[in-house]
Amino acid sequence: MSLLDTKNLSPRLLSFITALIVSSVNALFILFLHPLWYMPIVVFVLTFITTYWLYYYTLQRFIYRKIKLIYKFIYQIKATKKEEFFYNNILPQKSIEEVSEDVQKWAMQRSIEIDMLKANEQFRKEFLMNLAHELRTPIFSIQGYVDTLLGGALEDVSVNRKFLTNTSKSIDRLVRLVDDLDEISKLESGKIPIIQESFIIQELIRDAYEEFSLMAKDKNIALLFKKGTERPLQVYADKQKIKQVLVNLIENALKYGTEGGTITAGCYEMDERHVYVEISDDGPGIAEEHLSRIFERFYRADRSRSRTIGGTGLGLAIVKHIVEAHGQTVNVRSKIGVGSSFGFTLEKGHISKSN
Ligand code: ADP
Repeated sequence: MSLLDTKNLSPRLLSFITALIVSSVNALFILFLHPLWYMPIVVFVLTFITTYWLYYYTLQRFIYRKIKLIYKFIYQIKATKKEEFFYNNILPQKSIEEVSEDVQKWAMQRSIEIDMLKANEQFRKEFLMNLAHELRTPIFSIQGYVDTLLGGALEDVSVNRKFLTNTSKSIDRLVRLVDDLDEISKLESGKIPIIQESFIIQELIRDAYEEFSLMAKDKNIALLFKKGTERPLQVYADKQKIKQVLVNLIENALKYGTEGGTITAGCYEMDERHVYVEISDDGPGIAEEHLSRIFERFYRADRSRSRTIGGTGLGLAIVKHIVEAHGQTVNVRSKIGVGSSFGFTLEKGHISKSN
């Protein structure tokens, strides 16, 4: 590497080379002009010292101070006295190119941050719009029934009970929406910790099935376990929250499932560390174009149908949140006319010593 490779020249070296060139030229000049033999040496030494210090001082003061300012601006962390000493005296000083690279990196990072903020802003706007939309339907319905009742229907025995029942249904829907919103915001803020324990996943699925036995009977839907996957599998997860995941998935399978159909739970050992749980139905299925967005809040594959069935549109978003909070993944496979399968991974559990 040549000495004059400017890439890694420190201010000290740069000053040294400049001083050497200037003082040599001066000394040579004096050598020809002055008869005294020591004069060129004196001129050389004096010019060298003055040029060196002048140059060094200027570089240090004007360039490196400016660079330091840039660093102060781009890295908002304050260095301790020790770190400052280390940066100034022990670490090699950065070249202008390195500083430029750092600044470019910084600019790139800022640009990514800005894109993320913009996406968040868009997300927030959409969320508010959707929320207003979700609230509007039950509130308008309540308002309509209450006004009609107050307007005289209250005394009309042929409709008053019916109107009140419908009002009550809309209120239930609002309560469910608020509960789900509360749940999702708690999950997002990380306020509810994930408390993991080992348990048998099939037992939890059985519990969840039991909660829906009446609803399943009403729709004549059979709640089954996939043949060959009944062998008890231990998982290590937050039991309460995984129950919520199962409840949401089974409830959807029942809500959207066709009468006389089946819901099947399958539990598979994926590898040494993971178990895969899948809830499948033979319902109407979801069109392919919806699959990538189905876990978004308020996203509905079949708007009119989902509304009449009465979901909040947050069930799958909650499922995704819970599974991801466990560091695991959730996925969906579906085909119109064939059915849907929602699956998620879980960490394998450890069989406790007392068992
Ligand atoms: P919702 O409260 O509307 O059920 P979810 O977040 O639970 O909200 O589900 C989002 C959408 O995904 C539903 O509106 C529905 O269109 C579709 N979906 C979910 N599960 C199923 C299923 N098992 N079969 C068919 N469609 C489903």
